[in-house]
Amino acid sequence: MTTSNFDVIVIGSGLAGMTAANILGRTGYRVLLLEQHYQLGGLAATFRRSDGIIFDISLHGFPVGMIKSCRRYWNPAISDRIVQLPKIKFDNPQFQLETTFDRDDFTRILIEKFGIAHETVTAFFDKARSMSHYDDQSLTANELFNEFFPNRLDVVRLLMEPITYANGSTLNDPALTYGIVFSNFMSKGVYTFQGGTDLLINMMTKELQKNNVIIQKNSPVRKIHVENGKVTGVTIRKKNNEEQHFHTKTVLSNANLKGTIFNMIGREFFSRPFIEQAESVRLNNSSTQVYIAMKRGFIIDENQCGDLLFTSTAPVFDSAKLLDKNITSRTFSFYYPKTRPNTDRCYVVSSTNALFDDWNNLPKQEYNKRKTDLINQTIERLKKYIPELIQNIEYVEAATPKTFERYTEHLNGASFGTKYEGLAVSRNLSNEINGLFHAGSVGIIMSGWLGAVNYGVIAANNVDAFLTKGKL
Ligand SMILES: Cc1cc2nc3c(=O)[nH]c(=O)nc-3n(C[C@H](O)[C@H](O)[C@H](O)COP(=O)(O)OP(=O)(O)OC[C@H]3O[C@@H](n4cnc5c(N)ncnc54)[C@H](O)[C@@H]3O)c2cc1C
Repeated sequence: MTTSNFDVIVIGSGLAGMTAANILGRTGYRVLLLEQHYQLGGLAATFRRSDGIIFDISLHGFPVGMIKSCRRYWNPAISDRIVQLPKIKFDNPQFQLETTFDRDDFTRILIEKFGIAHETVTAFFDKARSMSHYDDQSLTANELFNEFFPNRLDVVRLLMEPITYANGSTLNDPALTYGIVFSNFMSKGVYTFQGGTDLLINMMTKELQKNNVIIQKNSPVRKIHVENGKVTGVTIRKKNNEEQHFHTKTVLSNANLKGTIFNMIGREFFSRPFIEQAESVRLNNSSTQVYIAMKRGFIIDENQCGDLLFTSTAPVFDSAKLLDKNITSRTFSFYYPKTRPNTDRCYVVSSTNALFDDWNNLPKQEYNKRKTDLINQTIERLKKYIPELIQNIEYVEAATPKTFERYTEHLNGASFGTKYEGLAVSRNLSNEINGLFHAGSVGIIMSGWLGAVNYGVIAANNVDAFLTKGKL
């Protein structure tokens, strides 16, 4: 079955895809948003269980820049719900501390607790803040830290561990990818969306509808058609094998970058150098999570746990160890009734970076056992902060890299798309195929909620320029 023409088809309703669709719809283009899942949002997702239990998957914290981006590219009702998470805690063998996670407080902590000279701290922050996409990429994060804090593994841990959790970056990645993300957070701390991810996605969906974006869920795109180097349309194939074709000259894919190139289009449609470059792009790591709903009325001690708690039992920070299946590090997100007003239930979500291969191809029994172990070990660790935990748990469940792969179709369940080199490939797509664009987690900068929204904006502007040129 073939359906009508669209100015642009957006594949995938992650925050980048939704934002791009919204801007293009608002500009007056005829936009179709196709999502393979039964709900919108991509990794900005929630899932429900009985008795009103609802878990947020990736609402743990984002930089203040989300307020401006949401006001400009969504609406003030959305941006007005963004509030600060004031209590960020660390507990590891090297230090325990609480911070508001902004430049002033980090400066105080680095001077008072870690004994670093004021000038060094200022010089480090200034250098991190001055970094841009156009900088030299040969300097690694490790070299950056060595320049300012030689032999200070404790300082490296404080500065790096939260960013590694947030986007999978390592000490060997280019320093600028660290500096840009770190500075984004340091400008004013860590923020959340009051009301939960489900409310955000509902509000965004209403805005998309207001801007006449046509939304179609349960619609996995299996082919982007290309003729003579130009996009001509897409085909979706539903679970019952029913196919639907749509004509368009412009596709903006929010799906995994490598999945878009190799699975939806095919290498034969690209130049050889481009395919070689795309092949060398590394996927980012995946995650495991444990979701814990407390019994109604049991309120977690906010002073004890804070909003976000970075815990580790590893003696020093080690990027590889953060991915190890023998988990030593966990980030706990605590959700109090203030996060979801009108509820008397608290939640804890534990997140850990993980490798897809450690969970792929396991026999079912072994996979289930590993999940149970993951839950039990997480509860054991959490008891340190909530002594009355066991008797107050209502419900618990775990997700693995296989879960992320299944619900987002990200290759290898990648949590943050690709490593940094994916950005150049993503941005070059339109030079290879006329009318083909990509927005979504690539590299460290363009991932996370803010990175995804902002990349959606950039991609929408590129699509607009392309469509406007076509009309001239
Ligand atoms: C465990 C975890 C915790 C996180 N915590 C945070 C956090 O605290 N703060 C933060 O800022 N970020 C966090 N992130 C990262 C953040 O959620 C993502 O970077 C961001 O949401 C990605 O948005 P995106 O637009 O790139 O697309 P995605 O969210 O990846 O969405 C892509 C969409 O495309 C759809 N799709 C894929 N293939 C097809 C197809 N063939 N046809 C149709 N649709 C398709 C998918 O179903 C999905 O809806 C976290 C991620 C994970 C996994």
